[in-house]
Amino acid sequence: MKTTKTPLLGLDYDELINICEQMDVSPVHAKKVMGKVFRYGEFDIENIPDFPKKLLNWLQDNTEIILPEIIANQHAEDGTQKLLMRMRDAKDVESVLIPADGRLTQCISSQVGCAIGCEFCLTATAGLTRNLTTAEMMQEVMIAKQVLGEFPRNIVMMGMGEPLHNYEHVAKFVRMVTHEQGMALSPRRVTISTAGLVPAIYRLLEDDLPCSLAVSLNATTNNVRNQIMPINQKYPLEDLLAVMQKYVGARNKKRILIEYVLLAGINDSMDDAKRLRDIAKSLGSTVNILPFNPFEGSRFARPSDEVVDMFRNFLNDAGVVAVVRISKGRDISAACGQLKTEINQRAATLRKQRSLTL
Ligand code: SAH
Repeated sequence: MKTTKTPLLGLDYDELINICEQMDVSPVHAKKVMGKVFRYGEFDIENIPDFPKKLLNWLQDNTEIILPEIIANQHAEDGTQKLLMRMRDAKDVESVLIPADGRLTQCISSQVGCAIGCEFCLTATAGLTRNLTTAEMMQEVMIAKQVLGEFPRNIVMMGMGEPLHNYEHVAKFVRMVTHEQGMALSPRRVTISTAGLVPAIYRLLEDDLPCSLAVSLNATTNNVRNQIMPINQKYPLEDLLAVMQKYVGARNKKRILIEYVLLAGINDSMDDAKRLRDIAKSLGSTVNILPFNPFEGSRFARPSDEVVDMFRNFLNDAGVVAVVRISKGRDISAACGQLKTEINQRAATLRKQRSLTL
């Protein structure tokens, strides 16, 4: 006997059409569900005009729309809100809403915790608990609509987790938020950010997923990258740069945003800046400089404002567009790499247990 219903928020257009076919009703009703639920964020499917009773009954019997409980909503001075949501299995994830220039950007979590273990990242200290499903990522978006009355116009997969380590669910989520019958976000406005899972980037390219790509490069030599990102021991810089080169050289002229966490005395020298210039130029990439956001227990420090400015100016002067990303919501630790639920106590032990079997 079936005890749990299928989450409706995880059903894509093709699956809804399939259900219509099974119910022997017109596929136009799939379009109606898409419009109601995903375009307008309304869940009262019983009020859809001219909706076949048997389809409605089937959906009500077999599917459900659940939203996580919001257990904390912290407001930062700059308007950023960090939502802590409790999923059905009592796992907590965070999502950050960033209103800027009249457009809402949402930072979505793709996993509970993360397995990648970047040394400068607070989320990493928790280890990986589990992947989020497509429906759960969609729930994050629906919660944004409930809290702010609008859907995000930009989605960045830069919350907790490594999106390419949860490829299937993330890919379906990306296809759903960009689907023309649903939320219809522009693929340019949906960004997957990766620590550099090389095979998954090849797959992304092959699948031609409708999204943008950001790569957290964070270092320009294997020596430094090995120290701060253990993933580099598995997929070294030359392999990462090769797939990035392939990606930007693809037929449809895709671009990659380079993210670069600036760590004092580690990767902020003039030589680093020069190597970064060469890499960015060869890829035609823009660089987002993320001055390190410190957290308790971390061995890194944030470079001085002068060093940050020098680094950026050097790149700009060399013809590379480089932006220092102002960390939104620093006063509520919603900034990059700071998305970790305070109540998660698993950190230290898991960190030791974690093995990189990616
Ligand atoms: N796993 C993905 C997305 C999550 S992290 C990735 O690695 O890209 C999002 C961005 O925040 C990454 O560029 C990461 O390098 C950066 N970041 C992580 N911790 C940070 C910190 N403490 N300060 C500044 N940026 C950080």
